[in-house]
Amino acid sequence: MTQIERHSYDVVVMGAGGAGLRAAIEARLMGKRVAIITKSLLGKAHTVMAEGGAAAAMGNVNSKDNWQVHFRDTMRGGKFLNHYRMAELHAKEAPDRIWELETYGALFDRTPDGKISQRNFGGHEYPRLAHVGDRTGLELIRTLQQKIVSLQQDDEREFGDGEKYIKVFAELAITEIFTEAGAVTGCMGYWRETGDFVAFDTAAVVLATGGIGKAYRVTSNSWEYTGDGHALAMRAGGTLVNMEFLQFHPTGMVWPPSVKGILVTESVRGDGGVLRNSEGKRFMFEYVPDVFRKQYADTEAEGDRWYSDPENNRRPPELLPRDEVARAINSEVKAGRGTPHGGVYLDVSTRLSPEQITKRLPSMYHQFKELADVDITKEPMEVGPTCHYVMGGVEVEPDTCASPYVKGLFAAGEVGGGMHGSNRLGGNSLSDLLVFGRRAGLGASEYVDSMGDKKTVIADADLESAVTDALAPLNRAGGENPYTIHSELQTVMGDLVGIIRKASEVEDALVKIGGLKTRAKNLTVEGDRIFNPGWHLALDLKNLLLISEAVAKAALIREESRGGHTRDDFPGMNPEWRQVNLICRADGDEVEVSKQALPTMPTELLSLFDVSELKKYMTEAELTALPEESN
Ligand SMILES: Cc1cc2nc3c(=O)[nH]c(=O)nc-3n(C[C@H](O)[C@H](O)[C@H](O)COP(=O)(O)OP(=O)(O)OC[C@H]3O[C@@H](n4cnc5c(N)ncnc54)[C@H](O)[C@@H]3O)c2cc1C
Repeated sequence: MTQIERHSYDVVVMGAGGAGLRAAIEARLMGKRVAIITKSLLGKAHTVMAEGGAAAAMGNVNSKDNWQVHFRDTMRGGKFLNHYRMAELHAKEAPDRIWELETYGALFDRTPDGKISQRNFGGHEYPRLAHVGDRTGLELIRTLQQKIVSLQQDDEREFGDGEKYIKVFAELAITEIFTEAGAVTGCMGYWRETGDFVAFDTAAVVLATGGIGKAYRVTSNSWEYTGDGHALAMRAGGTLVNMEFLQFHPTGMVWPPSVKGILVTESVRGDGGVLRNSEGKRFMFEYVPDVFRKQYADTEAEGDRWYSDPENNRRPPELLPRDEVARAINSEVKAGRGTPHGGVYLDVSTRLSPEQITKRLPSMYHQFKELADVDITKEPMEVGPTCHYVMGGVEVEPDTCASPYVKGLFAAGEVGGGMHGSNRLGGNSLSDLLVFGRRAGLGASEYVDSMGDKKTVIADADLESAVTDALAPLNRAGGENPYTIHSELQTVMGDLVGIIRKASEVEDALVKIGGLKTRAKNLTVEGDRIFNPGWHLALDLKNLLLISEAVAKAALIREESRGGHTRDDFPGMNPEWRQVNLICRADGDEVEVSKQALPTMPTELLSLFDVSELKKYMTEAELTALPEESN
């Protein structure tokens, strides 16, 4: 047996973004010994990149806001495919999670009367995003890290060992989760610096690894988003739900090429930014779908008045949910009304003064000035859609975040599925990761308690074979280059399973992904294990290929357009499909997709909607079966 560094923990949290840190805090508060593992440096996660804010119905800016309105907005945004229980828990618990952050030391922007300030965002009926300028994620992660350090200091004082209960393993990538008889026994990874392997014996793994954006070339996501948690869950026997739903954020930078895809926060539109095509037209008024027509202005004058008088006017269509805006921009560019670099114009300089822009949108000001030499206080930005967020994810029980199929496996944050349905509202991720990070930490701790004194240990044979697999690309000569395969995969996903899809193209993508999978069995990497990015990519590719197959297979099966899944050949929403979740399982190296009925929403939640609205989403049979009070 290869000698490898070995640890034993009650709970292993994979990921040190908001979801992972919040899960770890909860598990520690439950008295568990917790390992936090991150493949990047501590503090470098997507959570830190979040700009606009965290959505929570605190009612600080408009007292009409409450959890019921937030729940309604989330379900509407997700086009009613959300797991109702997750959306309910999220809407109810998000305010407490934000206030709790204040007790940990977070400093949010304030309203004139000293409450946490809340800003407008697409799809949210009232100003709802708690924020710190446009650097909210930085404050969130700083605060959670500070809480971890304070817990470690308590342990140092009490036990003389600050790492007795929480230890952070940074720059360590997990490559395998082990199970025995359907229950987790541990996981294994490698130090990115030395290439040395490390094993963790544990009964409970919380996946908090974020998303899959690196399957695409134009993306707001960074190198960490290779779908590791998604793929590891499937390989361990877990399931993914609705992987066809990917959010293409409408506003990424389109120029210069080296920064294409970098996010332009929705706060620019929340704070009054308008979208225009190359003819100077505010085109979004042409793209308001029937389901949203009642809530959105139909003239520029009304949309403009809404910023100062939201009570008596409807919001401008620039603030439609992201899927609608992204599709509209795509159509304008396709119709030849795009900017010189293939985007549209986003202009906030005509609404806010330079002082307001640099105060409210400091990161955007610097981003455009430094990367594109554009002064957004004076001129418009050029923007276009960028792959941003995956709504699909690990299928979990809403209350505990536990996989229904693998005992001891939990998931929270972007890697979790179900909460956002077919489209996530901006701001709902930061609150999602706080609400479900906490619940996952709690669920994992309760599971560990239920095990009593039973000891969990990874089988030696499992470890041995995982090490052999991981080393294979280094021991092989004359095979395929991982960078070539990755680049080809990104081309396939961008061109054939991108923002607009059709059957023939997705079928073509699946053939090509199959070919890439075969070639990837023969990867070769030059050099040794010591900080070798080619080897790291070779290990990540296995995950990227598996989740890309899941996305493409689910995208081919769902014959309708909804949220983050647009089929050119099935352009409308189909109420029959609203009743269906697509579930991906790994069958060996292949992804198998099956249909599963959505859970039924209880009457008290259904009654929050007018029947006229439910008619837009439900089948005749569902409408007839509605209880009396909703009819
Ligand atoms: C530019 C940008 C702006 C955004 N703005 C907002 C916003 O304003 N509001 C909002 O609600 N949402 C926003 N989002 C989305 C939101 O930031 C993310 O969805 C959210 O932060 C994800 O949090 P997480 O904890 O699930 O994952 P992350 O914060 O990404 O953390 C993932 C962690 O997992 C680790 N990891 C991954 N794989 C492995 C592995 N194999 N082994 C070990 N560790 C691993 C990573 O190193 C990292 O520590 C934004 C996203 C981006 C990219």
